[in-house]
Amino acid sequence: MVAQLSEPKLAALRDIFGDDVRVDAEAFERYGRDWTRQFPTSVGAVVFPHDSAEILALVQLANKVGLALVPSGGRTGLSGGAVASAGEIVVAFDRMNRITDFDTVDRLVTCEAGVKTAELQSFARDKGLYYPVDFASAGSSTIGGNVATNAGGIKVIRYGLTRDWVAGLTVVTGSGALLQLNRGLVKNATGYDIRHLFIGAEGTLGFIVDAQMKLAPMPAASCVLVLGVRSFGEILNVLDAFQRTLSVCAFEFFSDKAMRRVLMRQRLQAPFDTEAPFYAVLELDQNDVETGIARFEHCMAQGWVVDGVMSQSESQARSLWRLREDISDSLAHESPYKNDVSVRVSRMPAFLEDVETYVQREYPDLEVIWFGHIGDGNLHINILKPAGVETASFFVRCHEASRGIFEIIQRHGGSVSAEHGVGLLKKDFLEFSRSREEIGLMRSLKAVFDPNGIMNPGKVF
Ligand SMILES: Cc1cc2nc3c(=O)[nH]c(=O)nc-3n(C[C@H](O)[C@H](O)[C@H](O)COP(=O)(O)OP(=O)(O)OC[C@H]3O[C@@H](n4cnc5c(N)ncnc54)[C@H](O)[C@@H]3O)c2cc1C
Repeated sequence: MVAQLSEPKLAALRDIFGDDVRVDAEAFERYGRDWTRQFPTSVGAVVFPHDSAEILALVQLANKVGLALVPSGGRTGLSGGAVASAGEIVVAFDRMNRITDFDTVDRLVTCEAGVKTAELQSFARDKGLYYPVDFASAGSSTIGGNVATNAGGIKVIRYGLTRDWVAGLTVVTGSGALLQLNRGLVKNATGYDIRHLFIGAEGTLGFIVDAQMKLAPMPAASCVLVLGVRSFGEILNVLDAFQRTLSVCAFEFFSDKAMRRVLMRQRLQAPFDTEAPFYAVLELDQNDVETGIARFEHCMAQGWVVDGVMSQSESQARSLWRLREDISDSLAHESPYKNDVSVRVSRMPAFLEDVETYVQREYPDLEVIWFGHIGDGNLHINILKPAGVETASFFVRCHEASRGIFEIIQRHGGSVSAEHGVGLLKKDFLEFSRSREEIGLMRSLKAVFDPNGIMNPGKVF
C-alpha cells in the first residue's frame, strides 16, 4: 500500500533534501521493507540525507509537523525493524557511505552509518587489520544497521558482537540533539555510557550518524573443519573438547535437513560419505591445526563424531563454509518462518528437545530446520511453509506456534531474539524475555530520547 504525504509536508522535505526525496512506487517497494516479506508496507516518502545537519533538520521538522521516521540501512534485517508500515518517512543512508577517518595507533575507523559491513572488512584488510563481525548478509548490511541491531554472526565465540567493536557513536536523538558518545576512548568512567543504549535500540531512540569502530590485529591463516556428530547433545561435548585447549574462531552447527537442502540447491558436494543427524563447522587458526587434529581424533574415539574433514586450502575452506553460510539462501524458496533465539549454551540440548516435542505434538505437518551459532547459545529455528499453503495463513500459524516456543524459552531462561532484534516480528513476545519492570524502564528511556515518538514507532514495543 502507498500512503499519500500531504503537499506541505512533501515541500518541507524537499526544502531539506532537494531532489533526494523519492515518492515513486519503485522507491517505496525497495526502501519500504527489509528482508522479511510478511509485513504490509505503507511509505510516505524516502529521503537520502548527506550529513548530520540534514538529519537534524529532518528530526526538527518531524517533531514540529508530526512525521514518523524509519531509519533504513541495508534492509537485511530479519525482524521488520526497517519496515515502513504506517506512511512513515524512510530515511535511507545510501548517500552517507564514506569512511571518513582512520587512526593507525588507535586502530579506529570512523564510518558513516551507510558504510557496508563488507566495505569495513575490506578497508581493515587493506590496512593489515581485521574487522571480525561477519555474517552472510555482510555485503548488503550497513554499519548503522549493525549497530542498531547489535549484530552478531559467525565469529562471536572469539570476537563478540558489534557492541564490542563500537568505540564511539555520533547520534541524533528523536528530540533533536546531536551527541558524540564516548569519542573513541578506551576508558571513560564518567557516568552512564549512553553509547550502549543506542546499540541494539533498532532506531527507536534516534539516528546513528557515524560510528568509530575498532579493528583487531589480522588473525593467523585459518582452516575449517566439518564434523558429522551423532546427536545434538554430543555437539556440546565436541565444543568443550576443542575449547579446553584452543581458542576456536567459529563453531556453528546445522541439521541433516539443512545439509540436504544446501547440497541440492547450491549443487555442492557432501563433505564426506557418512551421514549424521547434525554437523558442526569449526574454524581454527592454522597454528592450531595439530592440536585440532588431536581433538578431532579424541572426539572420534569417544564416538561423538562419526566423520569429518579439514580444509587443505583456502578455496576448500571457503567451500566448506558455504555448507553453513548458504543455508538461508537455500531455504528461501520454502518461505521459512525464522525464529532466532538464545539460551545458555549448556541448556541448548534440552531446549531443542522440548521444542521438537512441542512442534511434533501441536504442529505435526510443519517441518523445522535447525542451524545456528553453537558457541554462543544462538539457535535459528526455521519453520518451512508446506507446499500449497498460502503464505499469509502460514505466517499466522507460525506466529501462534511461536508463543509455545517462547514459553519454552522462558522456562529455559533464554531470549526470544538472540541477534535479529525485536522489530515488528517479536514485539508481541517481549515479555517472555524481559520483565514488566524492564519494559517499563525501556519505555521511560524512549520517552527521554524521543518524547514525541517520531523514531521508528511501533517497533520493539
Ligand atoms: C542471509 C542473512 C544472514 C544474516 N545473518 C545474520 C547473523 O548471522 N547475525 C546477525 O546478527 N544478523 C544476521 N542477519 C540480519 C541482518 O543482516 C542484521 O540484523 C544487520 O545488522 C542489519 O543491518 P542492515 O543495515 O541491513 O539494517 P536494516 O535491516 O536496514 O535495519 C535494521 C534495524 O536498524 C535500524 N537502523 C538501520 N540504520 C540505522 C541508523 N543509521 N540509525 C538508527 N537505526 C538504524 C532500522 O530502523 C532497523 O530497526 C542476516 C540477514 C540475512 C538476510
